[in-house]
Amino acid sequence: MHVPEVEMHACVTLEDASALLTRYAPRARVLAGGTDLLVDLKTGRANTQHLVSISRIGSLRGVWATAEGLRIGALTSITRLHHSNLVRERCAPLRDATGQMAAPQIRNMATVGGNLACAVPCADLPPILTVLGAEVVAWSPRGERRLPLPQFFLGPRRTTMESDEILTAVIVPPMPAGFGAAYARFALREGNAIAVAAAAAGLRLDGEGRIADARLTLGAVAPVPQTVELAREVLVGHRPDEPLFEKAAAAAELAARPISDVRGSAEFRRRLVGVLTRRALDTALRRAREATS
Ligand SMILES: Cc1cc2nc3c(=O)[nH]c(=O)nc-3n(C[C@H](O)[C@H](O)[C@H](O)COP(=O)(O)OP(=O)(O)OC[C@H]3O[C@@H](n4cnc5c(N)ncnc54)[C@H](O)[C@@H]3O)c2cc1C
Repeated sequence: MHVPEVEMHACVTLEDASALLTRYAPRARVLAGGTDLLVDLKTGRANTQHLVSISRIGSLRGVWATAEGLRIGALTSITRLHHSNLVRERCAPLRDATGQMAAPQIRNMATVGGNLACAVPCADLPPILTVLGAEVVAWSPRGERRLPLPQFFLGPRRTTMESDEILTAVIVPPMPAGFGAAYARFALREGNAIAVAAAAAGLRLDGEGRIADARLTLGAVAPVPQTVELAREVLVGHRPDEPLFEKAAAAAELAARPISDVRGSAEFRRRLVGVLTRRALDTALRRAREATS
């Protein structure tokens, strides 16, 4: 399989990149790490004649502490994110996802922006970033838009970004006091295999150890990251224990809308959702308790 003939444009400014996307729409696509797009070009899933590479726009690469929280540049690689001291100190649950994704070679090339913009249901960052309350920043010559993740994804490989928009960053707000989060996924192999099902959970405990807030978002079992509102209703106001987490896991299984494919049947995925939800809740609870002690 070969990449079909395409014209490559290497840009050093967002303005140039956006102008090229407009000029060649609808046959142009942003190229970041290429780990998703080049596979799609080889297999014929993407039909693109112009690749607008943004790799030379250095301002899109890095992790910064800001008043609003962590700002993660869209071109930051998964490897760099995983080893960032700022992420380790302020946003450690993200590392559950970055540590399990793909293989080191892919993680070195794959970018945060690409993981979100590709809008693939099994992508690992969207569920945990959703639970952490992250927003994406989309830039166009008309200005900058900020979108909470639930408003960003429309369906498999579809987002609310316009064709001339470029995802420039992700903002992750500071974790509230008493909050812990975790991401659990199942894949058929340990390395280089995409998630068959995944669950991200976040719990905030009050001073008496009751659940004051709860968030649960599933991956790979619905067209978009699936937030389970019922789990929140089940959990909030109660003291965490095994029967309570069982109820939340049952709510997650109900909310999942899995498909059957080569990686597993819909039924298998639904069962996985229950197991992964319990695992994510257990870890989130341990971390929330550590954050309060
Ligand atoms: C062997 C293999 C294993 C993999 N395993 C995993 C895995 O375990 N978990 C996982 O989540 N993913 C996995 N992937 C998928 C892929 O590596 C990730 O989704 C990656 O983060 C995509 O980033 P990228 O920079 O390579 O994106 P690209 O391939 O460059 O782009 C992907 C899409 O996003 C668009 N895009 C990219 N950046 C921007 C931007 N800044 N603004 C607007 N649009 C943009 C592109 O136009 C394209 O449509 C795997 C891929 C391979 C080949």
